[in-house]
Amino acid sequence: MRRPLIAGNWKMNLGHADALRLSAALRSVAAPLPDRDVAVFPPFTSLAAVAADLRDARMSVGAQNIWHEDDGAFTGEISANLARAAGATMVILGHSERRHILGESDALVGQKVRAALKHRLVPVLCVGELLAERDGNRTLEVVERQLREGLRGVSREDMQRVVVAYEPVWAIGTGRTATPAQAQEVHAALRACLKSIYDASTAAGTRILYGGSVKPSNVDQLLSEPDVDGALVGGASLDAADFARIVNFKRNPA
Ligand code: PEP
Repeated sequence: MRRPLIAGNWKMNLGHADALRLSAALRSVAAPLPDRDVAVFPPFTSLAAVAADLRDARMSVGAQNIWHEDDGAFTGEISANLARAAGATMVILGHSERRHILGESDALVGQKVRAALKHRLVPVLCVGELLAERDGNRTLEVVERQLREGLRGVSREDMQRVVVAYEPVWAIGTGRTATPAQAQEVHAALRACLKSIYDASTAAGTRILYGGSVKPSNVDQLLSEPDVDGALVGGASLDAADFARIVNFKRNPA
């Protein structure tokens, strides 16, 4: 059975004091819920402090990005090693904001996934289609290509540590959520694609999160879909009460 994962992506928000205030407010959220995992992804400037603050909180702390080389002349970048040394155990890779604003290619995302695994960071590999791609009936083609390229060279053994996140770009930060049925359709297709790359048990064991305007009001329904194993939450993860409610999601009986 896949353990649900609720992950909060703080993006480029929160000064150091505000980040620590939010982390303090979340400290007790995960402890009473041993059936699920919780993670937060602060900006690099607060990563070490938040990781230290949440050390005993049964919550993981991750980076929002890494560069794929181990060290060297890469001004402004952070390696997997550096992120790990700061306290990260996970990393978001291939987020649509990095693909579409910063121009990251499928191949670069794949290099970063391999670097994360090499340095024992759990990669959260994001895939998702643009609105024009959905309107052109290209959703599955796009997300399957991103998945295959992101996982190029990743062994079956390493795949046990990878988390996939489906985030339709048109639903991120827009208030417009994919319906549970739309999310389920893509999650099922991604799982079928994982089966064709690896095998049935690897596909059945991989957590696939949904992201895109997840809120307290829609999380229960989204997570009631059989292939939706958790949520990657942007905006609502900045509000302690909203994020706590999302972490406390309740699946509707099947
Ligand atoms: C995200 O950035 O990963 C995200 C899903 O953002 P939001 O929840 O704000 O749509």
